[in-house]
Amino acid sequence: MQTDKSHAQQLDAQDPLASFRDRFVIPDQSLIYLDGNSLGRMPKATKTLLEEIQRTWSDRLIRSWGEKYIHIAQKIGAKVAQIVGARADEVVIAESTSVNLFKLAVAAVRHLSPSRTKIITDDLNFPSDIYILDGVCKLLGDNYEIVVIESEDGVHAPAQKIIDAIDDTTALVTLSHTVFKSSYTYDMAAINRAVHAAGALVLWDLSHAAGSVPVALNETNADLAIGCTYKYLNGGIGSNAFLYVRRDLQGKLENPIQGWFSQERMFDFDYKYTPRSNIDRFLTGTPNVLSIAPIEIGVDLLIEARMARIREKSLAQTDYLIALYDQLLAPLGYQLNSPRDKARRGSHISLGHPAGWQITQCLIERMNIIPDFRAPDNIRIGITPLYTSFVEIHMLVMRLKQIVEEGLYLAFSAEIDPTIT
Ligand SMILES: *Cc1c(COP(=O)(O)O)cnc(C)c1O
Repeated sequence: MQTDKSHAQQLDAQDPLASFRDRFVIPDQSLIYLDGNSLGRMPKATKTLLEEIQRTWSDRLIRSWGEKYIHIAQKIGAKVAQIVGARADEVVIAESTSVNLFKLAVAAVRHLSPSRTKIITDDLNFPSDIYILDGVCKLLGDNYEIVVIESEDGVHAPAQKIIDAIDDTTALVTLSHTVFKSSYTYDMAAINRAVHAAGALVLWDLSHAAGSVPVALNETNADLAIGCTYKYLNGGIGSNAFLYVRRDLQGKLENPIQGWFSQERMFDFDYKYTPRSNIDRFLTGTPNVLSIAPIEIGVDLLIEARMARIREKSLAQTDYLIALYDQLLAPLGYQLNSPRDKARRGSHISLGHPAGWQITQCLIERMNIIPDFRAPDNIRIGITPLYTSFVEIHMLVMRLKQIVEEGLYLAFSAEIDPTIT
């Protein structure tokens, strides 16, 4: 691999997705933003949309519901479905990822025999997911338990150990498709097959996968899924999450937070609850229009760019970063904490270093580069093919090299203050 900047420039010149960068608001072109996996950049069209929403609210008032917003959760859910390999009527926008996990996990476990008392997950899952599952078990009763299968190295998920642990006491297997720290990405089909062979249900958290890796919910026969829209979907700060329920399960599972938006003929205002039998059954209350409407813009950009091309560029970029790491960073004490196997890799790369926190602060404060940091020592580099360039990756590596070679990180405190990133 050539390590000179002109090679990166050449890769950018050949990039068929390069023009998508112009579709985003980028006030500081010199800022290297490598945290699109935590909060995606703002599309230019979103700016216009937010102005339009202001006018709709002020001018059309309550009429705006009937004219535009009453079905917004289903309409945008149908677009997200295209990104995750689902049918239009299997995805809806609602609440946060955490709350959707609660809803679907409770619904799944209650649907199965009470002899199925285990929820299986792994120790690479997002901590909030574990907290939610813990709460689900407390709610369901003393006999329910979470089984957290441990990864051998903290980078690669324990896929085979999970498959071996599934038995006839398993109700639910729930995992992050792409895990938040290392970006290990599960073989969804293999896990789904094992879960179904044992008569259990599977629930995928797609937060770090949607918009970054091809997801095939239907093709792999996934039962349930949830995921963020403010990461690779570029839906905006605190935008609502999505949930997926496979069509044949929609009329069978019970939403534990049932409300008027899941009620048949909701405007009859009947006091008896009669749930709908389609995806609406998993809604609760009024859609958060201000946090849902912008999702459409981000998803439209992904659909236009096409997931296959996004994946191709993502792999080319993560390969490029790993090749530069091998030559320039490994000798300086950096460690690759993401999979080398392309099939198992998402779109972010974690580089460990004993001074990882100090290096992260130096990148942000001195170098105008924003990655993020995940304890104990991971500098997490989010590659977002719609707007990350090869030159940016090259510059990041040169800075990581310089910071260690020149000891620039020593100017920063080693005491981790995670509120900064
Ligand atoms: C970001 C993320 C979440 C966030 O959940 P919220 O409810 O939106 O705070 C959940 N799960 C995973 C795997 C994530 O990466």
